[in-house]
Amino acid sequence: MHIEHIKTPSHEALWRAYDAETGFLSYIAVHRTVGGKSLGGVRMQPYLDESLAMQDVLRLSEHMSYKAMLADLPLGGAKCVVVQQPKSPVLWAQLGAFINHLQGTYIAAEDAGINLQDITALHAHTHYVVGTVQAAQSPAPSTALGVFLGLQEAWQYLSQEDLQGKKIWLQGVGSVGKVLREKLVENHATLFLSDLHAPYTPNPYWHEDLDIFCPCALGGVLNQNTILALRAKLVAGAANNQLENEARDSALLAEKGIVYVPDFLINAGGLIHVAQELWGFDIAKVHAKVLEIPKRISFLLAQAQKDKISPYLLAKQIAVEKLAKSV
Ligand code: NAD
Repeated sequence: MHIEHIKTPSHEALWRAYDAETGFLSYIAVHRTVGGKSLGGVRMQPYLDESLAMQDVLRLSEHMSYKAMLADLPLGGAKCVVVQQPKSPVLWAQLGAFINHLQGTYIAAEDAGINLQDITALHAHTHYVVGTVQAAQSPAPSTALGVFLGLQEAWQYLSQEDLQGKKIWLQGVGSVGKVLREKLVENHATLFLSDLHAPYTPNPYWHEDLDIFCPCALGGVLNQNTILALRAKLVAGAANNQLENEARDSALLAEKGIVYVPDFLINAGGLIHVAQELWGFDIAKVHAKVLEIPKRISFLLAQAQKDKISPYLLAKQIAVEKLAKSV
């Protein structure tokens, strides 16, 4: 396996690993380290070409830094992408060796295309991985808790109302979406559910008259076309990288009067959950930190309104400032 360092002005480090014999191809981007550490998930998916994998790892790792800063975690942001190939013991050995090469500056966790079983297999080859402890289990319920409380807070801030009877489109009823759905049902919201899998419809609700859009499926879901069609007052959901183009789409949402809660602020519950393992997993400590998400959201929305700036850009500014003081 050949490992090379690629210079990038925006990141502390970018690494590429390739093995011609097995076809293993992976990138690790360390956006920033804090106290010598950065954390981020391993994502495995097919990429049409290698440059897309590189772009993805750079963008995702930067957002992990913002997420950690806004959640007050003493960690920098990083990410690993693996170009999809069949899962095998050799794959985990090669990925483990790649992670070990960074000597603990990068700590891996679960992300799209990687499950608890895979993380456990990876753990046999590297210590630099979290999310393996049986007691810790899936981070999805912690993510869903933060998203629910954040969405409820943002709606309350906008309308001074609770969620009863509010029309909410929940896109993606997967690990996070399922838990969120239960909480929204308990709060008597009127739900529009979409998912690629039965019993839900894959059809979107872009033209429905909604109160809240809650994206919990894919990234890039908000773009020029979808924002134009969207009829909602608030967007607050778990999906990472919801804006296809950050500057353009945050401005478009603001122009339409749609309040956008930044994804890297509202969905930090999962990171809080897995990071806790570094200091001894304790679900009470995870919950205490997740419960801080709503007050950060109301502070952000009020400040953004006062400064006449989009909540997204303001959140990014706050995160960048905190990061500059932390590294
Ligand atoms: P998941 O894979 O369990 O669920 C995603 C669901 O979205 C699946 O059921 C899938 O069928 C559905 N889906 C995909 N494309 C769709 C489409 N076009 N329309 C409707 N549904 C579609 O993933 P998850 O763990 O629930 O995470 C959901 C999102 O939240 C992802 O973007 C993930 O990156 C992000 N996120 C998850 C966590 C976590 O703790 N799991 C933490 C932070 C962010």
